[in-house]
Amino acid sequence: MVVLILILLGLAISWIGACAIWPFAACKSCGGTGKSPSPTKKAWRLCGSCEGKGRRVRVGRRIYERGLGIDEKKRK
Ligand SMILES: [Zn+2]
Repeated sequence: MVVLILILLGLAISWIGACAIWPFAACKSCGGTGKSPSPTKKAWRLCGSCEGKGRRVRVGRRIYERGLGIDEKKRK
C-alpha cells in the first residue's frame, strides 16, 4: 500500500513538473482558436473563457505557483 502511494506521489510530482515547463493548454471552450463563432460561422467574437487568447493555464501550474508562493496578481 505504501508503494502504491509513493508511485502516485511520484506521478503527481512529474505531472506538476510538466505543468511548470508547459503551463498552457488549449482553451476548452474554443479549442485554442480564441474565437467564438456565430451560428452561421461567418462572424465570430473573442472567446469569453480565454478572452481571445486561445489558451488556459493548466491546473498543475496553479498548484506549482501556489507551492512556490507566486502571487498571480503580481505577475501580470
Ligand atoms: Zn477560448
